[in-house]
Amino acid sequence: MQQLLRNTASQLDAAHSVHPHTDLRKHLDTGPLMITRGEGIHVFDENGNRYLEGAAGLWCASLGFGSERLGEVAKKAMTELGYYHNFRGASTVPAAELSAKLAGIAPEGMDKILLQSSGTEANDTALKLVWYYWDAKGMPARRKIISRTGAYHGTGTLTSCLTAKANFHAGFGLPFDGFLYTTMPYHYRMAEPGESETDFSDRLAAELEAMILKEGPETIAAFWAEPVMGSGGAITPPEGYFPKIQAVLDKYEILFVADEVICGFARTGEMWGSQTYGIRPDMICCAKALSAAMLPVSAVIIGARVFEAMLAQSDRFGTFVHGYTYGGHPVACAVANEVLAIYEEMDLVGHVKSVSKGFLAGFEALRDHPLVGDARGVGLIGAVEIVADKPTKAMHEPGQKVMAQFDAAARKRGLITRLIGNRAALSPPQIITASEVDDMFARFRGALDDVACIVK
Ligand code: PMP
Repeated sequence: MQQLLRNTASQLDAAHSVHPHTDLRKHLDTGPLMITRGEGIHVFDENGNRYLEGAAGLWCASLGFGSERLGEVAKKAMTELGYYHNFRGASTVPAAELSAKLAGIAPEGMDKILLQSSGTEANDTALKLVWYYWDAKGMPARRKIISRTGAYHGTGTLTSCLTAKANFHAGFGLPFDGFLYTTMPYHYRMAEPGESETDFSDRLAAELEAMILKEGPETIAAFWAEPVMGSGGAITPPEGYFPKIQAVLDKYEILFVADEVICGFARTGEMWGSQTYGIRPDMICCAKALSAAMLPVSAVIIGARVFEAMLAQSDRFGTFVHGYTYGGHPVACAVANEVLAIYEEMDLVGHVKSVSKGFLAGFEALRDHPLVGDARGVGLIGAVEIVADKPTKAMHEPGQKVMAQFDAAARKRGLITRLIGNRAALSPPQIITASEVDDMFARFRGALDDVACIVK
């Protein structure tokens, strides 16, 4: 043990920490990127290198990477009441306040809040509530869930089934039966040559309806979607997509669950992605920016018809039998309350709308870069497609390791982005300023130029 503790944190990590989404064997040799400090939208590694965190960590650190104000709130809350649960009708002041505040900013008609600790928990809970709803309605055969290819909704056992990426299923014997995947709204790669966004949206809505009819509408419980697909590749929906999808779901009385774990709290330029795209969800799952990612807290925001069904089930069974030890944790809720107060003070939505102009212009300007096949974004989320050939959209050969080179070049220039296949995404902390946006794109373009020199 003494010997162990003389090692650096990186050495300890390489020897003992098991990392998600990491090449485990390689990690034993290379160890971690050890981040030691945060300041505004920047983080510092153990060698003192400073990075502009263009991905807000995992799309989540909305207020940046350190806050004395939130630290004070956490300290006070932990000193006053470090823990209490929300089971059997118990509550705490921070949890009650957070529920009320969330209800206050939720879309019209959604005012019941079930507090949890992570995005996965929120989605998993919403999934159970979908089944609970149909059971209450006397239609327990409505079990099947439709999500979209490329979707990411968490990595729990059931949420991995909502997640429609083959690498999340391989080796785990997933997905379970009853999870269906309709085509993602990825116009750049999935549209037919010459197909307009509107026509593509029509086609996807028709595909969804055909799937529902083939399976039998009486077997379909819910449709699951992120307003903008984050980990799926920063996929902004094509013109008219959600209203057309919503019309199909309404026709067959299928519930709509909006996963706003990334999109919530102005990521797309309105408080909710559902508002940006005219979605009328039955439930919203939110997390990440709810607490500015400073502590784990998430929520399912529940609409009227689902809550009515929950009441009926509670009458039938005596109680609502579901919950987690840390759901509504008072310290996490106290921090989230302060985060929401900060959002109000800074006029979060107004701020994002204002800096979004430079952000979207930054992407637009990258379209002429020789490596960029597509550039898209909304609010403060966007991505470029790095391609070998613009007209055919062909990607580079895997052996060229272009994305790894881009990553290394960006880091050398002090920028962290989020890489998803051949896409490099940006979703900076919402506190980013206009000049920091310009700085971020200068580094981004510089990294693209560096790679262009190598692969030429
Ligand atoms: N849904 C979406 C859209 C997400 O992006 C994530 C996390 N990246 C999750 C769910 C899962 O959240 P968590 O990692 O907090 O469980």
